[in-house]
Amino acid sequence: MPSELLSPRDVDYLMIVYHLSHVRGVARTSDVAKYLGIAKPTASLMLKKLTRSGLLRRVDSGYALTEEGLSVCTDMFIKHTIIETALTRLGLDPDEACKLAREIEVLIPMDKALKIWEGLGRPERCPHSDPIRCSAPPPLSCRVRVVARLR
Ligand SMILES: [Zn+2]
Repeated sequence: MPSELLSPRDVDYLMIVYHLSHVRGVARTSDVAKYLGIAKPTASLMLKKLTRSGLLRRVDSGYALTEEGLSVCTDMFIKHTIIETALTRLGLDPDEACKLAREIEVLIPMDKALKIWEGLGRPERCPHSDPIRCSAPPPLSCRVRVVARLR
């Protein structure tokens, strides 16, 4: 599945699976549902869909990102942090910018995001201090916090 066809919700799932894989070793359907505040059957359908798309794979008791899934997560996170940095400079507060960037990031091609990054003066960190030019997102990134119901 080409990344430009992903919805913000698809990316939410990928980011939560990435996060849970780091903190719990595996992303179980029940934990994904809990983090997103949704019913387990809903989470299960979506996790299966993303698995068919080649972005997730089944592991023992849950799901993990495939190489392609990780690559999509990383690209989305780079675009996310660039867009929210731009929106913050335009006057939004960091959390407003983060929520809006979640909606926009799927629509912006990487080359355009990098042009924006150049225009911003190549900032190294987003307004939440997460690294922008990363080889993989931090496990507990602002992109995870914006959707996860933590605690
Ligand atoms: Zn951020």
